[in-house]
Amino acid sequence: MKLPVLDIREVVERQLCTGCGACASVEPGRFRMGDAVEFGRRPFLVERPAPETGDALRVCPGASLEHTFDRSDPALDHDLMPSWGPVLEVWEGHAAAGDLRRAGSSGGAASALALFAIEQGGMAGVLHTAARKGAPHLNETVYSTTRADLLANTGSRYAPASPCDSLGLIETAPAPSVFIGKPCDVAAAQRARRLRPALDEKLGLTIAFFCAGAPSTRGTLELLRRVGVEDPASLKSLRYRGDGWPGMWTAVWTDSAGEERTARLSYAESWDFLQRYRQWRCYICPDHTGEFADIAVGDPWYRPIEDGEPGKSLIVARTPRGRDFLHRAAAAGYITLETKDASLLPRSQPNLLATRGGLWGRLVALRLLGAPTPRYIGFPMFRVWLRRLGLKQKTQSIAGTTKRIGRKRLRRRVDVREDDHTRSAAA
Ligand SMILES: Cc1cc2nc3c(=O)[nH]c(=O)nc-3n(C[C@H](O)[C@H](O)[C@H](O)COP(=O)(O)OP(=O)(O)OC[C@H]3O[C@@H](n4cnc5c(N)ncnc54)[C@H](O)[C@@H]3O)c2cc1C
Ligand code: SF4
Ligand code: SF4
Repeated sequence: MKLPVLDIREVVERQLCTGCGACASVEPGRFRMGDAVEFGRRPFLVERPAPETGDALRVCPGASLEHTFDRSDPALDHDLMPSWGPVLEVWEGHAAAGDLRRAGSSGGAASALALFAIEQGGMAGVLHTAARKGAPHLNETVYSTTRADLLANTGSRYAPASPCDSLGLIETAPAPSVFIGKPCDVAAAQRARRLRPALDEKLGLTIAFFCAGAPSTRGTLELLRRVGVEDPASLKSLRYRGDGWPGMWTAVWTDSAGEERTARLSYAESWDFLQRYRQWRCYICPDHTGEFADIAVGDPWYRPIEDGEPGKSLIVARTPRGRDFLHRAAAAGYITLETKDASLLPRSQPNLLATRGGLWGRLVALRLLGAPTPRYIGFPMFRVWLRRLGLKQKTQSIAGTTKRIGRKRLRRRVDVREDDHTRSAAA
């Protein structure tokens, strides 16, 4: 496959990096992940780096993505396939346990499936993401092995996270593990398993959540400043949602007089602010719904949500492994499956359909104007652009990208530096 870049440094400097962390897992002698406040989690060279082997670029989802599933499989939903990838079943449901359901972002489905995996599914643990200890405006990768761990680490964090930086923990675990991440994280983990037999053997289940884009740390810092938190070191906790559906963005900090203070914003207010800080690669992402995962989860936004409603999840079984696992978790009483209806997917996520629809136009604009363009194979784009978008949206997909090429300096390499304050917070 011909790539638009020569090496990982070029992926980063040409703003194609998603921040997944897989390069640091497959070439740890060369890369480590760090925080670049304006961009996201990024790979930086270690001291005295080993020569690049090419494995990092092979697993990198930023420069290229390729679907290899069997499109002729009669079990797959052929109407949904062009816009939503492989789909076996679509359900609305939720975690059966009330505490997980409440703490989770939507209906706690991801955490409930993970809990079943470790309590009854024969798996050793779950590789996923949590607020960083001592610096909750940042994230860290965690390996959860107990119910208490999972409960503490529920909830979407609209900030950079690189769960693939610790794929080694899955390889060395005593039994298979679950991996939870964004669609690009899961795509990277699936690629890495092809290079690493130990990972292939131990990656027991992959769960992706729907993702409209990951805002940079700058987004979180600016939002904190708006509510009165000037110094992130004064933060005691920061949640982006969950604890109700969709839940509130909630910051707790100690002010200069030593008093504990709390600020809350609705999900809509916080996302409206944060989404302006999404990394560039998210604007040209072909997979917002976890097409490479065994199971994908999202919000069933197909109807207005009443105040105080308990959480619900949209659950998409994408592989036979995922479908069987979902049914076993339901039979064991970990997850409640309420309604099976494929139409819930397009009805719940019209924004993601429009985003995916505009992709062909955006990539054409990039190519015509000489900006780096990732290589995507197996994602029908022209057909979706032609059929799903109106004339205005079609024009916007090209014109909007043309403007962004200049504004985001997409034809030049950018200087991506690690931020000192986040580095010390990581120590
Ligand atoms: C950046 C971002 C964009 C999103 N965009 C959409 C969208 O467009 N449409 C939509 O329906 N929903 C979106 N979501 C929300 C997501 O769909 C819900 O989190 C999902 O429904 C899972 O809910 P749950 O209750 O099953 O998850 P939970 O049981 O609460 O579990 C959430 C899991 O996600 C992991 N996690 C949290 N933040 C991150 C992160 N930044 N990177 C990697 N892993 C993480 C946690 O470790 C946890 O395991 C987004 C979430 C994020 C973080
Ligand atoms: S997308 Fe992932 S693998 Fe590629 S450079 Fe970024 S962190 Fe590394
Ligand atoms: S929009 Fe795509 S590239 Fe961006 S974080 Fe989400 S899955 Fe990754």
